[in-house]
Amino acid sequence: MRSGAGRLIEEALADLWQGVVLWDYPLSRLSTLKVGGPAKAVVFPGNAGELLKLIKGCKQIGIQWRVMGRGSNILVADQGVAGVVIVLGPDFSAIETVNESPETVLVRVNAGCSLAKLVSWSERQALSGLEFAAGIPGSIGGALVMNAGAWGSEISNVTTSITLLEQDGQIYERDRAALPFVYRSWGAPVGTIALNGTFRLVRGERVRIAGACREVLRQRREKQPLDLASAGSFFKNPVTMPAGRLIEEAGLKGCRIGNAMVSDKHANFIVNVGGATADEIKALMRLVQEKVFVRSGILLEPEVHIWDE
Ligand SMILES: Cc1cc2nc3c(=O)[nH]c(=O)nc-3n(C[C@H](O)[C@H](O)[C@H](O)COP(=O)(O)OP(=O)(O)OC[C@H]3O[C@@H](n4cnc5c(N)ncnc54)[C@H](O)[C@@H]3O)c2cc1C
Repeated sequence: MRSGAGRLIEEALADLWQGVVLWDYPLSRLSTLKVGGPAKAVVFPGNAGELLKLIKGCKQIGIQWRVMGRGSNILVADQGVAGVVIVLGPDFSAIETVNESPETVLVRVNAGCSLAKLVSWSERQALSGLEFAAGIPGSIGGALVMNAGAWGSEISNVTTSITLLEQDGQIYERDRAALPFVYRSWGAPVGTIALNGTFRLVRGERVRIAGACREVLRQRREKQPLDLASAGSFFKNPVTMPAGRLIEEAGLKGCRIGNAMVSDKHANFIVNVGGATADEIKALMRLVQEKVFVRSGILLEPEVHIWDE
């Protein structure tokens, strides 16, 4: 039996959307932390037209919506979230060369494309610039929103423009300079959706690019607890010191609440050792914030986006 709100969404979506709908679907199955309750409905638009229709319809009827990429930087509440979760996934993942010069290539990539697919495509084309992103398990949309980065590089460094569905329901292509990218955020207003990004990549040697990607992956395997469910680095790094070091110095490596644990391999990873709840992860997050603050005077800010009701 669906609730009144559930029936309203069901009836409204029937008019808006003829594609697959997963009803009351557990978001734990779509998030790399493997926690979180259900969304009323999960849908997978395959192009910008379908997405636009969905968003306009949801706004008109007053249904809450959220966009998800690969779910690798979200912590979904145990009670789940209201409304519709719109997943931009493999159906929304075209890669297209839009301009070429002897030195550089401009590549437009749809938001649902995985970083892994783009990194290996770039490697095959002998295009350099994205080696740092090898092993980041997100989508292009998620990477733009998070300004994903590693080893001193960020996605904004290679971005030239982004096509956005903005809050007025219109689509705009914005120059990279129009977006106030900062560390781990693109700075766009909440409710803005990335449809695609255009990236400037530099022609290079395929062997060197492949070698750089392999080295990044090797270092990830060496330093990160990749055998356990996580959302990557849980907290943003303060300017003064990496979050992992602050957490380690507070003696919290291996600290556990239920099945949520501060990784003993990398202290800035909160891992789900199996069967953790979102409440356990949030309790551990607060404990880490308290202990680190008492020891260092620094309040760690979560990098992970928390999806509460
Ligand atoms: C093992 C592991 C290692 C990681 N290593 C790194 C790393 O080195 N560097 C790093 O920066 N991150 C890292 N991450 C975190 C994560 O992979 C990145 O932040 C990634 O860019 C998130 O992409 P996503 O598609 O999974 O986003 P999601 O988790 O699906 O979404 C994140 C946020 O972006 C929003 N969003 C997603 N797509 C869109 C869109 N198209 N338009 C508007 N909003 C959107 C969502 O609503 C949500 O608020 C790691 C994660 C894991 C699990």
